[in-house]
Amino acid sequence: MTKSDTPPRAIPPANLRPRTRMVHAGTQRTGFDETCEAIFMTSGYVYGTAEEAEAAFATDGLRYVYSRFRNPTVAMFEDRLAAYEGAERCFATGSGMAAVFAAVMCQLKAGDRIVAPHALFGSCLHIVKNLAPQYGIETTLVNGTSAEEWREALSRPANLVFLESPSNPMLEIVDLKLVCDLAHAAGARVVVDNVFATPVFQRPLEFGADIVVYSATKHIDGQGRCLGGAILCDNKFAETLAPFLRHTGPALSPFNAWLLLKGLETMDLRVAAQTEAAQRVAEFLEGHGKIAKALYPNLESHPQYDLARRQMSGGGTLIAFDVADQGTGGKAAAFRLMNGLRIIKISNNLGDSKSLITHPATSTHQKLNDAEKAAVGISPGSLRLSVGLEDAADLIEDLEQALAGA
Ligand SMILES: *Cc1c(COP(=O)(O)O)cnc(C)c1O
Repeated sequence: MTKSDTPPRAIPPANLRPRTRMVHAGTQRTGFDETCEAIFMTSGYVYGTAEEAEAAFATDGLRYVYSRFRNPTVAMFEDRLAAYEGAERCFATGSGMAAVFAAVMCQLKAGDRIVAPHALFGSCLHIVKNLAPQYGIETTLVNGTSAEEWREALSRPANLVFLESPSNPMLEIVDLKLVCDLAHAAGARVVVDNVFATPVFQRPLEFGADIVVYSATKHIDGQGRCLGGAILCDNKFAETLAPFLRHTGPALSPFNAWLLLKGLETMDLRVAAQTEAAQRVAEFLEGHGKIAKALYPNLESHPQYDLARRQMSGGGTLIAFDVADQGTGGKAAAFRLMNGLRIIKISNNLGDSKSLITHPATSTHQKLNDAEKAAVGISPGSLRLSVGLEDAADLIEDLEQALAGA
């Protein structure tokens, strides 16, 4: 690429299959013809003459001018993820929460209204429930699994629906097609946080969603190395989003963009292997006497198994389960199990190659009061397990020995 070129969007032909696109889409080579994508660790760009600089600013977007706006390594990550998701545009951010905040707030003003389910990642709930009202935006929270409550909430005008499906941590599933249809009839755009389903197993845009957001920190990196986020949308919404990002500056570091770009090359394989193991672990937990309940979208016992089968092509890498109260309280039993594990690590991250377990009531969802916890199904004995790349048999043995001690 020469300096005066329009940076190409290197989207491979549409007939290439997703796994092939994940290896090649978005690649831009420098004059050195490197195989592996380069890290452009630069904040700015130079111009040969003052006239060139003037022209670069006049032809907005045709040249890299500042890495808060655009950067070649970040652009490669954005183009690769857009090609996989089937979205017209992708904007990378420094974290998943930066992506959620920008996607939600760039389009709202005082007097607008958000509808969202109670069952959301803690920080997502904070944005819609506490921050948005500070700006004069009203938020209506519903039970995300109740068609009745969605219908009622969207029977009057709304501007935005924000949802997660499956939800963090208790894997509630929202009927994407139903909610998108109701939202559009009410005049609202739909933003789906697709972290738990992953881009491998669920395409919210195909069910009518307008915008998809990711914490790239999770399965896209997949190896617990860096934070990142992404917003996927069409060209029309990009006109609203791009200036918001440019002027508020939640830019992704080029180094992190490179980690995420390389993460995309193996995401499909990693997530498939983790999901295969998750299915076996979920089946083991479901049949164990000390487990009161196991939730996994691809277990027939999941309350929304049929819906999950309709909109997800796999169960995903996360399992939620309740340890039975053995007379000393659910929390004590859950803590004994966690403390007895040898391979599975205690950590509130997820989507990692290492299996990670967390106790939502005292970690990710500690700030919720008891009624709020109950509303999203978090009990004192609830645990969330993110299944990694270890051999499923070792994970099952680890859980078995820890449960024997619990
Ligand atoms: C982790 C997570 C986020 C936030 O992402 P960060 O990269 O940690 O900022 C948002 N939504 C869901 C569902 C998550 O799991």
